[in-house]
Amino acid sequence: MKRTIVVGGGVIGVCCAYFLAKRGSPVTVLERDNIGSGASFGNAGTISPGHPPMNRPVALKKAVRWLLDPVSPLYIPARWDPGLVKWLRDFRSNCTQERLEANMRVLEPLGHATRPLFDRLVEEEELDCDYRPGGYYEVFRTEHGREEVEAEAAMARAAGFRTEFLAPEALQEREPALKSGLLGGAFYPEAATCNPLRFVQELAERIQGYGGAVVTGSEAVEVLTRDGRVTGVRTRDGEIWESDRVVLATGAYSLDLATRFGCRLPVQAGKGYHRDRDPATGGAPPLNVTCILREYYVLCTPMDGFVRFAGTMEFSGVNHEIREARMAQLTKAADSFLEGVGDVESTSEWCGLRPCTPDGLPIVGPLSAPEGVYLATGHAMLGLTLGPVTGQLVAEWILDGRPSINVDAMRVDRF
Ligand SMILES: Cc1cc2nc3c(=O)[nH]c(=O)nc-3n(C[C@H](O)[C@H](O)[C@H](O)COP(=O)(O)OP(=O)(O)OC[C@H]3O[C@@H](n4cnc5c(N)ncnc54)[C@H](O)[C@@H]3O)c2cc1C
Repeated sequence: MKRTIVVGGGVIGVCCAYFLAKRGSPVTVLERDNIGSGASFGNAGTISPGHPPMNRPVALKKAVRWLLDPVSPLYIPARWDPGLVKWLRDFRSNCTQERLEANMRVLEPLGHATRPLFDRLVEEEELDCDYRPGGYYEVFRTEHGREEVEAEAAMARAAGFRTEFLAPEALQEREPALKSGLLGGAFYPEAATCNPLRFVQELAERIQGYGGAVVTGSEAVEVLTRDGRVTGVRTRDGEIWESDRVVLATGAYSLDLATRFGCRLPVQAGKGYHRDRDPATGGAPPLNVTCILREYYVLCTPMDGFVRFAGTMEFSGVNHEIREARMAQLTKAADSFLEGVGDVESTSEWCGLRPCTPDGLPIVGPLSAPEGVYLATGHAMLGLTLGPVTGQLVAEWILDGRPSINVDAMRVDRF
């Protein structure tokens, strides 16, 4: 039987491998570090069907004001990087209402598929990942915030997702940790949350249960080909892993693996931060449900034993340097919306790199040449949300020759 190597053990790679293994197809995941050690380690844990992609016209308007402010939700430190300059130019030209609506049409069927998939995976595979299918609130404290939340909720509704608007009193009744003075919020009942690292680790275990292999500490440095077909992968320690197909799911890293086939992936690393606080020590309120704090673009997600404050977007290249001022913004944001954000030590502080494309859509599908190479990256702020559906589609592409949802718009040859 034909074998697939999946390079990258983040949520995307693990989901691709899971669906291949579940269908009885031989698969090996090669991960250079530990499973879930990239962006999938510490994201905000929200599964947000109907959430618009990054290329929103409103982002562009704000970007000019935010750009060089080191504590704004978006930060691009000044540096010479021609790739980033081109990416920003392309991103700007994709921040139109038409492009956004076109992207929403592409993502709509994926969003509708993903939540039932999460429900099924968690139930059938008994994933112990703190899955909470209770929806989330997006709350605002200014008229401007209200306009933005309303516009996005309208877009989600037009794509068939449910939203409910709540006045401040109703909000506070449902989530007593919210401070008074907010102007309201939108509830997204189809959203869910989980502990993202546990989700990926648990799913990686299930791959092995279906006969797949998961190899950590193994970095792919070259995709090998013969006569226009993939033959395997070479790792940094010189080992050759033979295979008939290779899925590159390396997130914001190792973009050069595809470059030797003339395929330049226009992916930039969008750094985000998290700070976990333990409600038992007074660091955060014991939140019932996730709240997204609109004016700061910060997410506050309750997980087993802690509340995670996560967010911000920084384009400073592929590095894991933590800028204290940006980290501090997370607690400042939480403190201005929530009661009980005490000044205590965090249980975890982390930054991770989102793989971001300039047009707001992921890159999923086969390369036109060589035969047998598939890409699955560029999910930006929606990698956890779209992980299972991406994995299912890639497995269908490989095993059935075509995916059950048309995602041609996500193929790399659009660039
Ligand atoms: C602060 C923050 C909050 C977020 N919140 C959410 C959210 O609430 N909901 C949501 O849907 N998304 C969220 N995201 C986005 C989400 O985390 C990413 O889209 C997703 O994790 C991307 O998954 P990935 O598998 O493509 O990449 P990664 O998780 O980065 O995984 C890539 C893996 O590939 C490995 N790798 C790289 N190169 C090689 C190589 N050559 N050989 C072997 N292994 C290699 C890396 O070590 C890594 O483990 C958030 C991101 C951040 C930073």
